[in-house]
Amino acid sequence: MALSSQAVDFVDEDRLNELLGKSPVDTAQLQDVLAKSLAKVPLNLEETAVLLCADKSEQVERIFEAARTLKQQVYGNRIVIFAPLYIGNQCTNDCIYCAFRRSNKDAERRTLKSIELKSQVEALEIKGHKRLILVFGEHPKYDAEFIHDCVRLTYETKIGHGEIRRVNINAAPMDVDGYRRVKEAGIGTYQIFQETYHHESYAQCHPANTRKGDYLYRLDALSRAQEAGIDDVGIGVLFGLYDWRFEVMGLVAHALFLQERYNVGPHTISFPRLQPAKGIKLDERYLVDDESFKRLIAVLRLAVPYTGLVLTAREPADLRREVMSFGVSQIDAGSRIELGGYTEAGDAQVQAMEKGQFRLSDVRSLDEVMRELVVDGYLPSFCTACYRLGRTGEHFMEFAIPGFIKQFCTPNAITTLMEYVVDHASPDTREVAEKLIREEIGKITDEKLKTLLIERVKKIKSSHERDLYF
Ligand code: SAM
Ligand code: SF4
Repeated sequence: MALSSQAVDFVDEDRLNELLGKSPVDTAQLQDVLAKSLAKVPLNLEETAVLLCADKSEQVERIFEAARTLKQQVYGNRIVIFAPLYIGNQCTNDCIYCAFRRSNKDAERRTLKSIELKSQVEALEIKGHKRLILVFGEHPKYDAEFIHDCVRLTYETKIGHGEIRRVNINAAPMDVDGYRRVKEAGIGTYQIFQETYHHESYAQCHPANTRKGDYLYRLDALSRAQEAGIDDVGIGVLFGLYDWRFEVMGLVAHALFLQERYNVGPHTISFPRLQPAKGIKLDERYLVDDESFKRLIAVLRLAVPYTGLVLTAREPADLRREVMSFGVSQIDAGSRIELGGYTEAGDAQVQAMEKGQFRLSDVRSLDEVMRELVVDGYLPSFCTACYRLGRTGEHFMEFAIPGFIKQFCTPNAITTLMEYVVDHASPDTREVAEKLIREEIGKITDEKLKTLLIERVKKIKSSHERDLYF
């Protein structure tokens, strides 16, 4: 298992612990850090530790308030929507928290055949999805060639006006050649979670005689991806395996490392919480309660202002609704995580627990989630324009070019929402979404852009023309 040319373990536990040991935090110090973050400057590890150690209730309130403000300033009201698609649950690893682990003899093993993959994709397209993340266990069957072919087939599968315009992947670490092959398929983001940055906990969860048992090989994965030309990457922690404050420091250390070495930080950070899964006995010591979960999201928002934060349907609907305002920029909706779940699921919750990787809490349909977002004043977006126009490092572009969001992101969110309205929405969702579209167009001050956008929205309503992006 070859590492990248300059593989390095940048997680210095002694230093992270030392920084986390500096409580209590005085309010003036906290204010300084918040001011830096509100000026949209990414925080260093010392500053992140200040936010994590600020424990007094009025300090925590200030952190929430600042996270809300920053989110509004940087991202506005857009929320990007995607769905996960599980391709196969065969796995040679033995991660103690996952129902797909090889020692779980009760797991029904399955890999979608091409025809099954096509029918899952069609089912997702019929619902209105445009962005997917394909998820794989770690198995010799799921090599780079196989992943490449799954991505290509997903792009090629179209039904009616439905098409998938961006395919992200979550797959086991590969070598540089493997990443090159996967890149050739035209992936969006390559996502891989370190699970825990704490070495001892990592060793406890991932037996040494498995591929995933090699901490450094996993930590180095995104460097190999970079060497293969993949610069759009997602990192994450499975919260609940070790102390949440330490894990946030690990994520920020990882983001800083990528930024410093490759000049581009991660596109997204994911922060799944450990969920019950079939055959799993959870060690409850480090489970993250809702209050701490909200805090960690707010701190991440403030520490990495330009990195997308992904919140999944592992979390219940009401909590998802609440934390949206702290800085989440992407959510999945209408998700099914059992193999074949988009065409075969009956009672999704039971099925997910029986057949899936873990239990999913928010099993509402895409349409319900869309309606709630719109009613709450969010602008759901299926935009995939940057990636397809070759505007690489899109997350950087969004912020580097003055007015980028106003000129591109919001208009594209509006046209993709109109596509959803015309092709997929229920009458109730259609009504509230059309009203939001009118309001959003009304807010545009650039008259030329406004006229063009109105024309495009009308075209989508009255013709078969789709995918009219800026
Ligand atoms: N096999 C690949 C890997 O391990 O990187 C693909 C990822 S796995 C199918 C996707 C992610 O699900 C894992 O990285 C882990 O963080 C998460 N996961 C596994 N078991 C979980 C559980 N019980 N609750 C919540 N998330 C879980
Ligand atoms: Fe396999 Fe990934 Fe589950 Fe670990 S988390 S058992 S590698 S599918």
